[in-house]
Amino acid sequence: MEILVSEVGPRDGLQNVKATMPTAAKKAWIDALVAAGVKEIEVGSFVPPKLIPQLADTAEIVDYARGHAGLTVAALVPNRRGAENALRAGAHKLTLPLSVSEAHSLANLRKTHDQVIEEVAGVAAMIRELPEDQRPHFEGSLSTVFGCTLEGMIPDAQILSLATRLMEAGCDEVGLSDTTGYATPGEVKRLVKLVRGEVGDAAVQGLHLHNTRGLGLANVVAGIDAGITTFDASQGGLGGCPFAPGASGNIVTEDLVFMLQSMGFETGISIDGLLASRRIVADALPDEPLYGFVADAGLPKGWEAERAASETQKENA
Ligand code: ZN
Repeated sequence: MEILVSEVGPRDGLQNVKATMPTAAKKAWIDALVAAGVKEIEVGSFVPPKLIPQLADTAEIVDYARGHAGLTVAALVPNRRGAENALRAGAHKLTLPLSVSEAHSLANLRKTHDQVIEEVAGVAAMIRELPEDQRPHFEGSLSTVFGCTLEGMIPDAQILSLATRLMEAGCDEVGLSDTTGYATPGEVKRLVKLVRGEVGDAAVQGLHLHNTRGLGLANVVAGIDAGITTFDASQGGLGGCPFAPGASGNIVTEDLVFMLQSMGFETGISIDGLLASRRIVADALPDEPLYGFVADAGLPKGWEAERAASETQKENA
């Protein structure tokens, strides 16, 4: 079975480090990720450069990444204006976050739920105006869905109503996002099933997890059990949410791929390739700590999962 690993380091990671990675290094990083076999990269965010100067070159990066055939170039958009720029740049996938906690939504996007839904409907309308073969995939991301640093746990009814409203406003898919690192395996299973029950299995394919409390990979296994097939991760665990104190670090791509391969899932990604692209990040951000057990400890002696995985694939073919 195939699992899609979506690399979000160039967006979620870089927006939360103090230094700005030079544009040339971002391009080299993307090249190396593609060489490693990564099929989807969230390359940036279309927000005003004043807010996140680290991502000011997102349009140029989207345009550059589109040069890699077969790569899905994803971008975050907070609103219609951001989406307009993302469409102009040619992003293949747009993700618009909606905090299920209204307090977090006001802090993060300065918008109420109604206002965010209005933006979503506006973006969907812009997408519909494009010729069918040029329409990007449009995901509404339910952020703080596993709990919020401002409001705590959010009632199920509120989560389900917002999921439905995102789909009705024109999203192709709703993702579940553990912005604050509150998710636990039991809650992942419960909420994925709950939201799938409301909007359908096909509309809930992706999880965005952080490793704030060390449960990131356990949450991935729970997500797979519940039918999830796409996971966001970031190289070296860069990332976090500036509006969610204590939430630092997406799950680490290298460790995620190692685990998935060990379980027999096909990712198409080479761990050696990932370790090579990680060195580009380390060189470009020398003051930034990088996390990850596989990079620190190395692969187990005799590790042949990559070969084993391709043989399994042959047997199944
Ligand atoms: Zn995140």
